[in-house]
Amino acid sequence: MRSFKLKTDARPCPKCGNAREFTAQSRQVCEDGCEVWVICYWCGYDPTEGKIGHRVESVMGGTDDNNVLMAVSVWNDELESEKPEKVKS
Ligand SMILES: [Zn+2]
Repeated sequence: MRSFKLKTDARPCPKCGNAREFTAQSRQVCEDGCEVWVICYWCGYDPTEGKIGHRVESVMGGTDDNNVLMAVSVWNDELESEKPEKVKS
């Protein structure tokens, strides 16, 4: 687990509005693969919670800058897709 602060804002957390401070998480999911994702540092919000295949897959599962940036872009994508009220046509 690694906490970090972004230089530029990500999408603000829908719960607390935090857009810069996150905690990187990683978890081994199979023998040679790990998932890396970020949660809100302030409130722990995790937009990928309960979703399969929405996290960054990494062989080493490291929370290095590259993986962290990819995980932040997943955060952005998830919040983007959550944002609109689910309008069904
Ligand atoms: Zn938050």
